[in-house]
Amino acid sequence: MIIIDGSEGEGGGQIVRNACALSLVTGQPFQITNVRGKRSKPGLMRQHVTAVEAARTIGSGDCDGLAVGSGELAFRPGTVVPGEYRFAVGTAGSTSLVLQTVLMPLILAGAPSRLILEGGTHNMMAPPFDFIARTFLPIVNRMGPTVDARLIKHGFYPRGGGRIEVDITPAPLRPIDCVERGALLSRSALAMFAGLPFEVADREIATAKKLLGWPEEVFAVRQLPEEQGPGNILLLEAAYEHVTEIVSGFGQLGVPAEQLAKRAAARMSGYEASDAFAGPYLADQLLLPSALAGGGTFTTVKPSQHSLTAADIIERFLGRRCVFEQLASGTHRVEV
Ligand code: AMP
Repeated sequence: MIIIDGSEGEGGGQIVRNACALSLVTGQPFQITNVRGKRSKPGLMRQHVTAVEAARTIGSGDCDGLAVGSGELAFRPGTVVPGEYRFAVGTAGSTSLVLQTVLMPLILAGAPSRLILEGGTHNMMAPPFDFIARTFLPIVNRMGPTVDARLIKHGFYPRGGGRIEVDITPAPLRPIDCVERGALLSRSALAMFAGLPFEVADREIATAKKLLGWPEEVFAVRQLPEEQGPGNILLLEAAYEHVTEIVSGFGQLGVPAEQLAKRAAARMSGYEASDAFAGPYLADQLLLPSALAGGGTFTTVKPSQHSLTAADIIERFLGRRCVFEQLASGTHRVEV
């Protein structure tokens, strides 16, 4: 039994999700104490419970302490059974994070799977659907499998009600090198909103335009049906030959549109000014597939606490180390 202190490192939900995925793939049971110990509301939240339930279901596993608020979780994996599954996060909890819990075990299973995930699709502190579909999955697919994700309906916090569908055609994962971005192909800035005044999106776009200096025609506003709201997200996207980076600004009560857009624009400008392949979020999310592929290399801006913690958990299950090395350019090279 692998024992993990969930308050170490980043101390968040990622420890729980990665541990479930690694446990299903390796067959090793684990126990986490101090679950999400560094979060303001520690313990499992609804979305983590759904993620662990999803892992238990696809992997015929068994757990103790699986309840909202629980600070201790034990998980014993069985055999992963590919197939069609539907998991609903009863709240606006992130569908992307449920996907990331079960994706690798299903990719490594012997037959195709289809997932229907319901809940939030554009949540703070989680990958928005667009990031999963256009930033993360293309790299995973380059490692061998074919994973196709479709957004059926948007879901914003607090209402939720979103839906995504994911088709997974498994294949052995092979190591890849993600070092060069390649040439810049396109950029876009999209302010999406539902059930809010149009001017919120307009102000985000005006601020992003002023700060990014991108051509006029790449900026757009999209109004979603009223009943999918209230919700708002600004998505800044830079597509290169080998990678697409998506930086998001999540609309939040009390945060002015200009401030959210300014922060997102600064992060995108930072990424564009560097020559790193992966932004900070893609970096922590690439560690698990790379480790399961038996290796891989990528460059990133600066290793985040999420990346260092993911590396730790991976080492606990696989005995494989991730080495972070700063290059002369300031970029970091990650060797898994
Ligand atoms: P945790 O905070 O431990 O629940 O983990 C959050 C996960 O969501 C990490 O894997 C982050 O990389 C990912 N994440 C958070 N915010 C974003 C974002 N804006 N875009 C993409 N991924 C994100």
